[in-house]
Amino acid sequence: MKVAVLPGDGIGPEIIAQALKVLRKLGLSLELQEAPVGGAGYESSSDPLPPATLALAKAADAILFGAVGDARYDKLPRAKRPEQAILGLRKELGLFANLRPAQVHPELVSASALKAEVVAGLDILIVRELTGDIYFGEPKGIRETDGEREGFDTMRYREGEIRRIARVAFDAARKRSKRVCSVDKANVLETSQLWREVVTAEAAKYPDVELSHMYVDNCAMQLVRNPKQFDVIVTGNLFGDILSDEASMLTGSIGMLPSASLDARGKGLYEPIHGSAPDIAGRGVANPLATILSAAMMLRYSLGEAQAAGRIEAAVAKVLKAGVRTADIPTAGARKVGTQEMGDAVLAAL
Ligand code: NAD
Repeated sequence: MKVAVLPGDGIGPEIIAQALKVLRKLGLSLELQEAPVGGAGYESSSDPLPPATLALAKAADAILFGAVGDARYDKLPRAKRPEQAILGLRKELGLFANLRPAQVHPELVSASALKAEVVAGLDILIVRELTGDIYFGEPKGIRETDGEREGFDTMRYREGEIRRIARVAFDAARKRSKRVCSVDKANVLETSQLWREVVTAEAAKYPDVELSHMYVDNCAMQLVRNPKQFDVIVTGNLFGDILSDEASMLTGSIGMLPSASLDARGKGLYEPIHGSAPDIAGRGVANPLATILSAAMMLRYSLGEAQAAGRIEAAVAKVLKAGVRTADIPTAGARKVGTQEMGDAVLAAL
């Protein structure tokens, strides 16, 4: 199995190095090949997504991605900025489904801004459509109307786009607690009315999965009131963008959360949800667990190695239970370690 490894910028190379250590330890037959992306891609070939990197990603069975971005590239034209690499990879590889689990490890309950009893044992999965909706709908622009400027965007979804993301959610729910909550704004938006119709029709093919619907404003509230009521949440690009960030903060630790972006055949790009953290880059203090857990997701969703994925997740849980902590997840009486030591602790637990 071929894995394209794209470390990127800032803390990207530091955290990816730890995930690679863990993957190598498992003794699977993985071909791990690295290439520059983001600012590193721009430095090597004036392109945040160099053609050779894209070719490697296309030929691979999965992509393990660190993070991209650095203030020193902010003045470049948009097409040359590091963040364009992610958008380019999503587009070129047809990655339409974003999966973001949010789990609260019992030992990290105190990291959440919410009360312990509200989040203890939380385990939800947000499935966000990634390539459609108001972000890509045409027409869009800023025009002159009655002597003043007017900004406009178009929210749109085709049936096929809704159907395929619904299937990803139903399939994922089958591997979990078999409940899907579809989130929309069907009381106001035509696009959402179609969304609700199509998701409901698709649910008939999954009689073992329970489907419910919720308006996005209510969902935003329920996520902080009683987040444990959810198993899988499926939603469009705009609502998913906001709700997945909200859900990640329930856990209180950005350095802990993995994510996956999948195509129609299950090939995917796996990355921590955080960015390149330039403020701590090069200091050896970044938390590598989100990236290590992203590697576990990669084994489960794209490489058919669910058992190996489970081993990694169990090792991470063991390390947390033993009180080993990077600076971003402090708890009283814990042993504070750096990036490399945290990787070593996971290796030892494996
Ligand atoms: P960020 O996620 O990089 O950092 C936010 C805060 O969280 C910082 O204080 C950082 O030190 C901390 N943090 C992040 N990851 C951590 C980890 N693993 N361990 C410990 N602490 C961690 O977000 P930002 O500061 O808004 O953005 C920095 C750069 O990252 C920008 O250039 C932005 O465009 C880019 N970015 C990239 C991605 C991506 O590659 N997918 C995502 C978000 C932001």
